[in-house]
Amino acid sequence: MKNLILFGPPGSGKGTQAERLIEKYGLVHISTGDLFRYEMGNNTPLGLQAKAYMAEGRLVPDEVTIGMLRNKVEMHPEATGFIFDGFPRTIPQAEALDRLLADMGTEIAGLIALDVDEEEIVTRILNRGKSSGRPDDNDESIIRNRITVYKEQTTPVFDYYAELGKSHSIAGVGSIDDIFERLCSTIDQL
Ligand code: AMP
Repeated sequence: MKNLILFGPPGSGKGTQAERLIEKYGLVHISTGDLFRYEMGNNTPLGLQAKAYMAEGRLVPDEVTIGMLRNKVEMHPEATGFIFDGFPRTIPQAEALDRLLADMGTEIAGLIALDVDEEEIVTRILNRGKSSGRPDDNDESIIRNRITVYKEQTTPVFDYYAELGKSHSIAGVGSIDDIFERLCSTIDQL
């Protein structure tokens, strides 16, 4: 099994690259942001729970997020590996993920971070907001809040996997094809 974490700030291109990676490597893509948006769109209890946090660009509480992630992983016993996108975003989420994978007899092969400058991110997200219809993509103060949350709560996850020798960083700028090439060459060495 090859389980990967696609890491990086909001707007760094994780979703775009994940779509290509699943095609090439035959992995199952799990994006917690997409899952929350799906639940919200269907007005499920989980969606309603997540709604206020997402609207403000804050993290949904760990218990909620971890439970949802676990359910999704367990729905794919046939998977040859997963790409986690937007998860884990906190140390308790990383620890829960490692336990879940260990119970399945597997582990994270590597975390790959897309490195993108902060102002570039704001520009990209505001641009995406024109077509994504996401309220959290259309308000600069919420976008900046998401970046602050990323710096404060999520970057420690990079260090957590770095201590295990599993973190890698690549430049997340340039063409989509160039970034994809960089990703693949890192993944092929894992
Ligand atoms: P994303 O699509 O990954 O940018 O996520 C959009 C929003 O969903 C975030 O701003 C959070 O409110 C929520 N969210 C997504 N993934 C997580 C996670 N792993 N932990 C907590 N909240 C999350």
